[in-house]
Amino acid sequence: MSGTLTGDVADERTLHDRAGRQANVNRYLLSDAQNVIVVDLLRNSSEAEELADHVEAGTRKLACIFITHGHPDHYLRLNVFHRRFPDVPVNVASAEIRDDIIGFSQWMESVGWPRGRAGHEVRSDDNPDGFDYPGVIQVLGQPVLKLPLAASSIKVRSDYASSECGHMTTLCIPEQRALLAFDLLYNGVHAWCGPGVDQQGIRKWIQILGEIEQETGKRGVDVLLRSWCRGRRKSGQQHEELSRNVH
Ligand SMILES: [Zn+2]
Repeated sequence: MSGTLTGDVADERTLHDRAGRQANVNRYLLSDAQNVIVVDLLRNSSEAEELADHVEAGTRKLACIFITHGHPDHYLRLNVFHRRFPDVPVNVASAEIRDDIIGFSQWMESVGWPRGRAGHEVRSDDNPDGFDYPGVIQVLGQPVLKLPLAASSIKVRSDYASSECGHMTTLCIPEQRALLAFDLLYNGVHAWCGPGVDQQGIRKWIQILGEIEQETGKRGVDVLLRSWCRGRRKSGQQHEELSRNVH
């Protein structure tokens, strides 16, 4: 499934979301007239291959792959994309997010998830065919993503307190009045409060939602996008849902 947000597209920059089937998690394609940035990948390899086919068949050049945070439904199929587009940079906002990705992958291996090797395990002496996360993932030098033909940069923020994940990134596209909040905002599914999200994390998360509400109100953001979504929902509803999980 894909959709286009037109908004105030001053420079032909468009924003597409493509929902995965297995995990129902969105990845986004940010593009100008000739270039595209893929934001987040999938955990299902055939869906990642389909997305790579879609990008390859398009007229736009893949400028970079950007991963928002270290949860596997957002980065696991980096191995597919890096194999399909070996010269395209893979970026994250901070060294902590790169560490989260490596740490989560190592934890997955330690608990045998998934069974057998699937190409996304961390490369090591024991597994030289694993994925070279430290060698492939580059930390952005500045908190911006640039599309070569776009008039302005996409603002990258990654200084949030630990909440849904240890470290999270959001993207703001000012001229489209859009904030991509990824897993800070959920819609149509309940917010993740399982392993990795403790009581303090939930409290911080509620605080961050309040900040997002305030900020988006101040800046006049009228498009809020998230990774897990169907339709649109005010963050206030998620606020209440999270509050029920604080004891
Ligand atoms: Zn997440």
